[in-house]
Amino acid sequence: AKAEGRNNYRFFLPSMHERVKERKTIEEDLRNALEHDQLELYYQPKIDCRTERVVGAEALVRWHHPERGLILPGEFISVAEECGLINRLGAWVLEKACRQTRIWRDSSLSDLRIAVNLSPAQFQDAELVDSVTKIVKETALPHGTLELEITESILMNNPEKAVSTLKELKELGVLIAIDDFGTGYSSLNYLKRFPVTSIKIDRSFVNDIHVDVDDKAIVDAVIGLGHSLNLEVVAEGVEEVEQLVYLQEKGCDFIQGFLFSKPLPASTFESWVTERHG
Ligand code: C2E
Ligand code: CA
Ligand code: CA
Ligand code: CA
Repeated sequence: AKAEGRNNYRFFLPSMHERVKERKTIEEDLRNALEHDQLELYYQPKIDCRTERVVGAEALVRWHHPERGLILPGEFISVAEECGLINRLGAWVLEKACRQTRIWRDSSLSDLRIAVNLSPAQFQDAELVDSVTKIVKETALPHGTLELEITESILMNNPEKAVSTLKELKELGVLIAIDDFGTGYSSLNYLKRFPVTSIKIDRSFVNDIHVDVDDKAIVDAVIGLGHSLNLEVVAEGVEEVEQLVYLQEKGCDFIQGFLFSKPLPASTFESWVTERHG
C-alpha cells in the first residue's frame, strides 16, 4: 500500500502541479488583461420569435490574449471566479454593455435591450445593486432595457438574500432572466417566489426538439409553465430552421442561436441589425 501510495503521489504530483501553474498563468494574464484593455464584448442578437425582428442582444465577453489569440469565456470565467477577479471583470462587462447600449439607442437601434450574464459571486457582492444603480443612471437606460441573466444555483444558495436583491434590481427597472433553465436543481417553486421576468431554455433541450420526443415534451412544458407564470420564454442555441419553426408553433417568445447569428463585435452587430431591418 505504501509503494502504491508513493506511485500515486509521483503520478499525481506533476499533473496537479501543471494545472496549478496553468491556472496561475491565466490568473496573472487576466489581471493584466483587465489593466490593458484586452477584453471585448461580443453581442448575440435576440430575435422576436413571431416577427423575427431583433429586439436585443446578449453581451458575451471575449479575451484577446497577446500570445494566445482570442479566448472564449469557458476558459477564463471559472478562473476569474476562483481567484476573485470576477467582480472586477463583471463590473467592466456591465459598464461596457450599458454604455454601448446607450450609444446604440442614440443612433440606429433605439429600442434595443441588453442582457448581461452575472456570476454567482457577483450576485452575492454587496455592491452589486449600487453599481447597477450607478451605471443605469449614468447611461439613462429606460426601465426594461437592462436584463441580468442569472442561474438557478444563485437563487438556491441564499433564497432570502436573493429575493431582496432581486426586488431592489426590479425597482431599478432591471429584468431578470433565468439562464440555462432546466439544467440546475430547479425548484419550480422559486419561479413564483422570485421576481424573475424570463426563462431561457437551455441549448441542450433545444438541440433535438425537431426529432426527439422527450426534448419536445420538455420544451413544450417549459413554454407552458413560463407563460402561465407570465414569464417571457427564450430558447437558446437555435441552429436549424426546423427548430425555429417548432418554437414558433409553440409560441416561444424569443430565440437566440447561430441560425440567425453568432455573437458579433459591436460594430459588426450594428451593421448586421441595420442590414436585416433594412
Ligand atoms: P451562456 O450565457 O449560456 O451563453 C450562451 C453561449 O452559447 C455563448 O457561448 C454563445 O456563443 C453560445 N451559443 C449561442 N448560440 C449558439 C448556437 O446556436 N449553438 C451553439 N453551439 N452555441 C451557441 P460563449 O460566448 O462561449 O459563452 C459561454 C458562457 O460563458 C456563457 O454561457 C456564460 O455562462 C459565460 N459568459 C460569457 N460572457 C460572460 C460574462 O460577461 N460574464 C459572466 N459571468 N459569464 C459570461
Ligand atoms: Ca446567458
Ligand atoms: Ca445559457
Ligand atoms: Ca451556460
